[in-house]
Amino acid sequence: MAKTKPGKKDLDSYTIKGTNKLVKPGDCVLMRPSDSDKPPYVARVEKLEADHRNNVKVRVRWYYRPEESIGGRRQFHGAKELFLSDHFDVQSAHTIEGKCIVHSFKNYTKLENVGAEDYFCRFEYKASTGGFTPDRVAVYCKCEMPYNPDDLMVQCEGCKDWFHPSCMGMTIEEAKKLEHFLCSDCSSDDDAKRSLNSFPVSPSVEIKVRRTQSGFAHVLLL
Ligand SMILES: [Zn+2]
Ligand SMILES: [Zn+2]
Repeated sequence: MAKTKPGKKDLDSYTIKGTNKLVKPGDCVLMRPSDSDKPPYVARVEKLEADHRNNVKVRVRWYYRPEESIGGRRQFHGAKELFLSDHFDVQSAHTIEGKCIVHSFKNYTKLENVGAEDYFCRFEYKASTGGFTPDRVAVYCKCEMPYNPDDLMVQCEGCKDWFHPSCMGMTIEEAKKLEHFLCSDCSSDDDAKRSLNSFPVSPSVEIKVRRTQSGFAHVLLL
């Protein structure tokens, strides 16, 4: 246990000014940036502390947005993606303007609706080097890209890999109407016995949309 300085007191919770929302250590919060044109900063609360005048300070661990990372935003980064950084800070609790939820990648892909307060994190980020943990993730499709949960993917019934409609020469609308899908490699291996046209057409068969993360090939991110 770290020693508490005299006159300082650890708090179990803090109520966000002007609201009845309670923030506790371990919660994720939105913090007001000094430049009001920017989106709020996202952080995980590590510790809440009040001094003898009852000024509340919050020790936070920052989440970085892809555009704030050294490598910048890449094609496979989701709109709501955050990286848990190794960058800690102490801020006045007054800068907390709201709460949010940072989901695991798997839970995020299972959300029925993504609300404004929903984010996800699949990488830890070292702010000094720009390095990511894990440094490798599964890749999919002919383009060999990690999965971006914002993009629709279709699963090949032959090789079970997942593909972007655009990489297969289809529009998203065309892909959504598909009853069955074989990628170009699998359909060229295919013989007449497994002609796609012979499948019964059933409106109840839904196209499979990528939901879970399972490993195929791996790629080095940096
Ligand atoms: Zn692709
Ligand atoms: Zn295939």
